[in-house]
Amino acid sequence: MRLVNFEGRLGLDVVGRFVDLEQVSQGRVSSDPMAAFSSWAEIRRLASEQTVGDAGRLILPERLGPPVPRPTQVFAIGLNYRDHAEEAGLPIPDQPMVFTKFPTCLAGPNAAVPLTSDRVDWEVEQVVVIGHEAHRVPAARAWDYVAGFCVGQDVSDRAQQFAGKPPQFSLGKSAPAFGPLGPALVSLDEIPDRNDMKLRCWIDGELVQDSSTKNLIFPVPALIEHLSRWCRLLPGDLIFTGTPAGVGSVRTPRRYLKAGETIESEIEGLGRLSNRCVAQG
Ligand code: ZN
Repeated sequence: MRLVNFEGRLGLDVVGRFVDLEQVSQGRVSSDPMAAFSSWAEIRRLASEQTVGDAGRLILPERLGPPVPRPTQVFAIGLNYRDHAEEAGLPIPDQPMVFTKFPTCLAGPNAAVPLTSDRVDWEVEQVVVIGHEAHRVPAARAWDYVAGFCVGQDVSDRAQQFAGKPPQFSLGKSAPAFGPLGPALVSLDEIPDRNDMKLRCWIDGELVQDSSTKNLIFPVPALIEHLSRWCRLLPGDLIFTGTPAGVGSVRTPRRYLKAGETIESEIEGLGRLSNRCVAQG
């Protein structure tokens, strides 16, 4: 199933039409998108009963919010694709490199992105959505704790990210709308091969990133094992799993986002984000 946040309400995307879950459940499921995790079994049952004929209004992409608008924690992983570590001239990490994107950076799949400086960069990423509380979960059981995936953009102000010694990544990746997310939360059962999902990014139509999640250095189960060894992961928590090669800051010459440019981020089976960059007001 494909869960969406449409005009602030939780619902299903059934072939591009919105099924309002509070309405079809006669109030048993809350309209709050964060209620998806406590009502998961009920939503699955309702999803299995929905047909195209029952579906409601056409989903207007510009009215979609982030499918998970208020996660307690947003983890993100640096240097998790071999080709990206190589282009950055950095060694392959021997354990996941973890930072946070503070949750207020999350935005809808078509939100405008205000640029905080002239060194803002793009990073298409697969985002894992945690479905059940997880603490000290071994990799072999990690998928049991995953609700599904979204497409994410880890927009990054490189000037702030690398300011200071040692660098602290989180602030430079947490400005408003620096975390576009969506277009839907797609449950695991919709994904033909969860270990091999193609991901691509375009700037104004030019393909700049093109890879697959099969190239992750630390795949999803290893990330959940590592993160849950230290932290309690909660339903709705997000993991931005890292970006492949092709970001702007390590190109020759370097390339950064300009106001008026559009970042498109796509993962096979999940959908596409389209985010126009604007000058900061
Ligand atoms: Zn990233």
